[in-house]
Amino acid sequence: MIELQGLTKCYGDTRVVDDISLTVEQGEFCVLIGPSGCGKSTTLKMINRLIAHSGGKVLVGGDDVTTLPPERLRRRIGYAIQSIGLFPHWRVADNIATVPRLLKWPASRIAERVDELLALFQLDTDGLHDKYPHQLSGGQAQRVGVARALAADPDVLLMDEPFGAVDPLTRDALQVELSRVHRQTGKTIVFVTHDMDEALRLASRVALLNGGQLVQYDRPAELLVAP
Ligand code: ADP
Ligand code: ADP
Repeated sequence: MIELQGLTKCYGDTRVVDDISLTVEQGEFCVLIGPSGCGKSTTLKMINRLIAHSGGKVLVGGDDVTTLPPERLRRRIGYAIQSIGLFPHWRVADNIATVPRLLKWPASRIAERVDELLALFQLDTDGLHDKYPHQLSGGQAQRVGVARALAADPDVLLMDEPFGAVDPLTRDALQVELSRVHRQTGKTIVFVTHDMDEALRLASRVALLNGGQLVQYDRPAELLVAP
């Protein structure tokens, strides 16, 4: 589903992502892990072209991302980040509907899809769909962020430390929920974290990065953590 071929990003003379090649199969839960500054976020953002690469290639669903029109890319790839980026003046339901509206889905289909996602993320209580982001708990807001990323039913979901800002108990619950959503939807996920426990809990494959390079790419059970 995703193929990185010699993917490279330079800022000036510095290679912050250095010749990374890996394949993420359909339905895989791939976690990119490594120390701060090793190039995880940059790699992720080159998959959906938030950042242009300096060398190599990114294929998503067999297509080179440089040749896909932005709208097709947005339909194919959902993106969720730590700071969530919910629109503060929009209600939960409107936030979730962002991409389907950009894609001009009919209103009835959008309403149906929003209800589906509220149920999937157990947000279908207490008139929550009508609330504004500041009225939500941290955990609820994160779930809305992930629901929004899934709204247009993308093939691929990219997540950059989506649970980085919530307390440990909420984080625990969100991990369990995301695993369930992954099983139920069969989405291909690429998830960035610097937390090894989180990686081992969620991943079907772990990509270990260091200094911009791919050190290891394996199933969690095979992963050798250097002493
Ligand atoms: P990680 O997500 O693993 O913490 P990043 O991908 O955010 O790492 O960053 C990788 C490296 O690239 C870091 O050294 C960072 O300082 C550098 N970097 C990121 N963005 C820019 C930029 N716009 N200009 C110059 N250097 C950058
Ligand atoms: P692609 O050809 O890029 O893979 P699709 O056209 O198959 O994308 O659409 C992806 C998803 O979005 C599907 O679930 C499709 O039903 C839905 N979708 C896209 N555009 C519309 C639309 N205008 N009305 C209803 N559903 C849509």
